Amino acid sequence: MPSNSAPGRESGDVAVVESAHPVARPAPAADLIHPEAFCNRCQRPNVTWFAPSELWNKAVRAIGAEEILCPVCFIQLAEAAGIRPTAWEVTPEIHEQPADLMGERDES
Ligand SMILES: [Zn+2]
Repeated sequence: MPSNSAPGRESGDVAVVESAHPVARPAPAADLIHPEAFCNRCQRPNVTWFAPSELWNKAVRAIGAEEILCPVCFIQLAEAAGIRPTAWEVTPEIHEQPADLMGERDES
């Protein structure tokens, strides 16, 4: 199997490919792309997020890894560094709380 082929499994005489590659999408204008809009490790879309500095330093800086990471890649590095919680928490950081940001609307 070529080294650059996607992981897959054989199902009878049909190869089932479980691709880890992102789906093709229209490319926005280069000047509109946020520098952290895509993970530099897996190239998938990224969101604005953060981890506590102590955790980031142990998982990422300690090995000199790429620092624009999606949450999944960060978790993979953290677990490779021996940080293995029972689960990872995703929680919104909210500075202002407009009524509809959390799906709550003022019905009055
Ligand atoms: Zn990633």
